[in-house]
Amino acid sequence: MTTTDTSDPSIDSESSIVDKAVDELLAGHDPKAESQIEFRGHQYDAGLAWVHFPVGFGGLGLRPDQQKRIEQRLRAAGAASADAASFFLALAGPTIVTHGTDQQRNRFLRPMFTGEERWCQLFSEPGAGSDFAGLACKAVRDGDEWIVNGQKVWNTIAHLADWGMLVTRSNPDAPKHKGMTYFAIDMRSPGVEVRPLRQITGEAEFNEVYLTDARIPDANRIGAEGEGWRVSLTTLMNERSTIGGSGSAPKRGSGPIGELVNIWNQLPADRRTAAQKDQLMKFWVRAECQRLTNIRAGASRKAGNPGPEGSVSKLAMAELNKELFELAIDLLGAEALVGYDYSFRRPETLSTEGIEHGVRHAFLRVRANSIEGGTSEIMRNILGEQVLGLPGEPRVDKDVPWVSVPRS
Ligand SMILES: Cc1cc2nc3c(=O)[nH]c(=O)nc-3n(C[C@H](O)[C@H](O)[C@H](O)COP(=O)(O)OP(=O)(O)OC[C@H]3O[C@@H](n4cnc5c(N)ncnc54)[C@H](O)[C@@H]3O)c2cc1C
Repeated sequence: MTTTDTSDPSIDSESSIVDKAVDELLAGHDPKAESQIEFRGHQYDAGLAWVHFPVGFGGLGLRPDQQKRIEQRLRAAGAASADAASFFLALAGPTIVTHGTDQQRNRFLRPMFTGEERWCQLFSEPGAGSDFAGLACKAVRDGDEWIVNGQKVWNTIAHLADWGMLVTRSNPDAPKHKGMTYFAIDMRSPGVEVRPLRQITGEAEFNEVYLTDARIPDANRIGAEGEGWRVSLTTLMNERSTIGGSGSAPKRGSGPIGELVNIWNQLPADRRTAAQKDQLMKFWVRAECQRLTNIRAGASRKAGNPGPEGSVSKLAMAELNKELFELAIDLLGAEALVGYDYSFRRPETLSTEGIEHGVRHAFLRVRANSIEGGTSEIMRNILGEQVLGLPGEPRVDKDVPWVSVPRS
């Protein structure tokens, strides 16, 4: 199966532009000889970091699905993919290129792409998760700076981050979606405190972040004052499609489903049941449908940020992963109960599935898939409202000043 319709002349000409740029990059820089940071810097300068971004900002202004071609060629030449702890570049990059000033694009995009500066996401609060627009973290303007006070929670990799995507309440008298402002915050600035939160895996991959009179220069405001909701949507759409794998094309039978098939193949014949085999086959079909749907979604995206298809793939991936690893644990039987290290750890990397730490770890880690990046219930609401056109759920506080909405 081809992933793009090569009968479209514009795709053919885009592919040759990409091939030429990759040839030139590889002619001047050997990914096996240079450090990852060095090589990725050259990749950025060649416009091959985010190929759909504008020229001069890591892109060539081409269709986003050309990125797959670039990645395949660079991997084949020995270039490593982005460090897993740099996950948030897939969210912060598109947000800054869409809503930031040229100065901000110049300041943030390159070091984010090379991995020299890592980012985290400071959205959720104890009282604002699914209803993220209800957030309370306060930002008050003080000359050329903003003073921020509040608490954020579940902030993945915040302990490793240099910068945070921070959303605040800058106008409590406006309705909730209209009084929010978005910033890039220096995670090492005074008044930013990161504390670990332990998960069922034993790790503290995420954190709570306390902001006490933290000062942010107005130059680090992303988007206009009061436009934080619109800016956040770009982050969230990119988050969902990244977690759901929308547009990516893993090998057939790879990833979690491949892991499950391996376990099945290694199981003695007398421990395999027909019912489990039936379940395995159903999961295989679901995984393959999801993979093909993701490829199709990627191929049909002509430009810009992903739409609700990212939420649909995130929903499908989250629910499948949970069921699939439950079967994996059932297949392992009593063996699944031993050999797991629950000791407290601060990971230096990030994985939404965690298979690299074994099936037991993955079984625990994927419980979070249907919560992180928006819960499955919220993904179903998006699917219902934005894809199927069903009536929206009642939103009684939409036009009420945030300050007048009762909060728990
Ligand atoms: C592993 C992990 C990593 C995370 N990383 C980050 C991060 O880096 N940065 C960050 O800011 N946040 C992060 N989060 C937080 C995540 O975005 C929130 O947990 C999520 O949005 C849900 O919010 P909540 O936990 O407050 O649950 P709530 O919003 O309180 O939801 C509780 C339950 O009510 C349901 N519910 C709520 N509203 C509705 C509705 N309108 N319709 C139907 N059902 C509804 C939910 O689906 C859920 O089952 C992470 C979470 C996890 C688990």
